[in-house]
Amino acid sequence: MVRALRDHGPSTQADLSRGTGLSAATVSNLVRLLLSEGVVETETTTSSGRRAVLVSLSRRAGDRFAVGIDIGRRHLRVLACTPARQILGERVRPLPVGHLAEDTIACASTMLDELLVEADLDRADIIGCGVGIPGPIDERTGQIAHGVILPEWVGLPLEDHLTTQLGLPVHVENDANLGAIAEIWWGEHGVSDLEERSGGENLVFVKIGSGIGAGLVMGGRLHRGHIGITGELGHVGVTEYGPVCRCGSRGCLETVASVSTMLDLMRPGDAGPEPTIDDLIRLAHAGDPATLRIVEDAGLAIGRVLGGVANLLGPRMIVLGGPVIPLGDLLVDSVKRGLARWSSPVVAGATDIVMSSLDGRAEALGACAQVLHEASDESWTPRRATRVPVAHR
Ligand SMILES: [Zn+2]
Repeated sequence: MVRALRDHGPSTQADLSRGTGLSAATVSNLVRLLLSEGVVETETTTSSGRRAVLVSLSRRAGDRFAVGIDIGRRHLRVLACTPARQILGERVRPLPVGHLAEDTIACASTMLDELLVEADLDRADIIGCGVGIPGPIDERTGQIAHGVILPEWVGLPLEDHLTTQLGLPVHVENDANLGAIAEIWWGEHGVSDLEERSGGENLVFVKIGSGIGAGLVMGGRLHRGHIGITGELGHVGVTEYGPVCRCGSRGCLETVASVSTMLDLMRPGDAGPEPTIDDLIRLAHAGDPATLRIVEDAGLAIGRVLGGVANLLGPRMIVLGGPVIPLGDLLVDSVKRGLARWSSPVVAGATDIVMSSLDGRAEALGACAQVLHEASDESWTPRRATRVPVAHR
């Protein structure tokens, strides 16, 4: 059972019973014994809407851990977790639009120091730090490419800059790529029988925020393409004479389906306060017809582009993430309809589309997973995963 906890991270007693084949009563007795010996810790959680006991390995002094930093256009998240997938601490802070790299990196460094103090962690035990950026990173130069969500960051030698500022080994990665890694390492979508026989997971993670980008895991490996830039879904053209996009093209998916576009559409010509993503989510769930139409049109356009992706790559699972997660089925259903309309029926029938279960943490968790993967040489592809609940702290 200790091995199951090490492999799959914090698990409910029911998951442990399913994963190990032990009876519920035996698992319960073992947990009590391990708890008395200080090997595990327990906390109350909910699983499928019911109260459950979440069991995790106790952390001991000197246990090492990874740090994941997710830099968004409007937020900054710093998170620490162990190789046993236990989240040790987390801090989130809003960022002003147009934030500068120097200020944000200094803020991340302060948040990490605060997290270490709060969770009583030693900086010397950090294995490494993964950093997610909402933009394509050109592997030839290690710099953020042009036409991105953070124009102020273009051309910076980010990895060197971050390594110096944080005083840690740092690996910088596109945020959607990290989301894809997190979904196979932490998510609920264990590898299928077919995939297990044919070499690994086939999953696409689509981050829908101020921009739209995808991380592609093919055959259990992250697909990086020729220069490290892949999954630029937001710049696939969907309307020939549409608005000019920040990339310089016209009618890109981002100009009709990003969160920024949806918010722009919410109050045309109204001088009131600018709507936020929280307003969009609240009005959509309240059944506001105009908001529902905005969400539906965005979903259909995203589904149309994903139809091409599915025809070409044949993923088993497409996971949607980003600040749109609380829209749930309101968005997922229209993406499904778009994909069904614009892909081969047999491909559409074989492709699952779901909302991420990682609660906006996918990018930071993926950053941790990447550090831990590089430190251990383990595959990202999970062993046949039992569900890995993420402890909320
Ligand atoms: Zn574009």
